[in-house]
Amino acid sequence: MQIFRTQTAIKEYLRPLLSTQKIGFVPTMGALHEGHLALVSEAKRHNDLVVASIFVNPTQFNNANDLAKYPRTEDADVAMLESVGCDILFTPYPEDMYPQPVRTALNFGEVETVMEGAFRQGHFNGVGMVVAKLFHIVKPNKAYFGQKDLQQCLVIKQLIQDYSFDIKLVIMPTIREADGLAMSSRNRRLSATQRQTAPKIYAALQQTAQLLQSGASLQTAQDFYTQQILAEPTFRFEYFEIANLDTLATVTDLAQHQQVALCTAVFMDEVRLIDNLIVDLRK
Ligand code: AMP
Repeated sequence: MQIFRTQTAIKEYLRPLLSTQKIGFVPTMGALHEGHLALVSEAKRHNDLVVASIFVNPTQFNNANDLAKYPRTEDADVAMLESVGCDILFTPYPEDMYPQPVRTALNFGEVETVMEGAFRQGHFNGVGMVVAKLFHIVKPNKAYFGQKDLQQCLVIKQLIQDYSFDIKLVIMPTIREADGLAMSSRNRRLSATQRQTAPKIYAALQQTAQLLQSGASLQTAQDFYTQQILAEPTFRFEYFEIANLDTLATVTDLAQHQQVALCTAVFMDEVRLIDNLIVDLRK
C-alpha cells in the first residue's frame, strides 16, 4: 500500500491514473474496525484502485476533549487496510490540509437543525469542508460511507448534488459487534463495564422498532425508548428521533411513511455513542 501525507504528493501520484482507473474512496478518521474495512472491501470489489484516508479532522469536533481523546492507532490501521487490499492511504498532516484557517463556511440547511446538527454546532460544516477537500484531492468515481452516520450520509448527498461532484455515493449498512453494539472507534474508550452495558442502546432501538411495527403511536415509541435509556444509570440520554428517512426531519404523522429512521445519541461518561435503525412500517 502506498502512503501519502501531503496533498501534492497524492495528487501527483494519482494524476496519470485518473483517465484509466476507477477510483473508490473511503474517508475515515482512523482507529479502524470491521465497519471501516467493510467499506474498503466493497470499494475493492467495484473499482480498480481503492484510496482510504485517515484524518482526524479538527474542524468537525465541537468538543476539544473529544478531539484530544480521539483514538489514534496508525500502525494497526495500516496493517488492517493492507489486509483487505487497500491500494493507497492518504493520511495528511493537519497543516497540509489547513495551511491557514478555513474562511469559507458550508451550511446544509434543514439537516443541520436536527440531531447531530443541533447537538454538535458546526460539526457538519467541518465534515462538509473536509470531504469536499478530499473529493477534490482524490477525485474518486465512487465514495463509500456508513449508514452508522446516517445524517452524515445525507449531508454528503447534498454536497455531491449541490456542488456537482461527479461521484457516486455508496452507503453501506452498519457493522455491529456480536452483541449488537454498532462498531465505532469511540468504543475503545469504554470501560469493560460500560462496554457490557452499551449494547442496550441497540436493543432499545430494536424493541422500539417492534413497537412501531405493531402499531404503537409516535409518543408511545418515544416514551418507551427514553424510559429504556433512563433506566440505565450509566447512560446519559441526548436525543432520540423518529425521522423521515429522506430528510431526517422529525416525523409527525406515521401514516405518511412506509419507512422511518430511529436515531439516537447517548453518552456513557464522556464517550458519545450514536446509532440508528431503519424501520419498515409495512411489515
Ligand atoms: P469515522 O472513522 O468514524 O469517521 O468513519 C468513517 C466511515 O466509516 C464513515 O462513513 C462511517 O459512517 C463509517 N463507519 C463507521 N462505523 C461504521 C460501522 N459500524 N459500520 C459501517 N460503517 C461504519
